[in-house]
Amino acid sequence: MTNMLGKQALERIRKIKPFIQASLTITKKRCGNPGCRCAQEGPLHEVALLTWKEEKRTRTLYVPIELRQEVEKWVQEGKLLKRLVTEVSQAQREFLISKKKLRRNNQG
Ligand SMILES: [Zn+2]
Repeated sequence: MTNMLGKQALERIRKIKPFIQASLTITKKRCGNPGCRCAQEGPLHEVALLTWKEEKRTRTLYVPIELRQEVEKWVQEGKLLKRLVTEVSQAQREFLISKKKLRRNNQG
């Protein structure tokens, strides 16, 4: 039982792909190898880091370059899922409110 908005959101949730609740940040870093050109003039190395909160602490995880685009898709899907969960919750509240109004109208 839901309304139109809820149906649409549920429909999209059914098609959900792998997701992750985290953000992906690209930073530039020195690799630490004193023989590398990044130690002197650069350019620096691009590093992709996944960050998320766990028990109020920010955690990070290194993402290999070949997985960067794939992980970015998971992050986008995770954001979408969060939005859809909010939309369905909203739809269910609206559904209940509309039932309440209907009952009140019938009584009056
Ligand atoms: Zn380097």
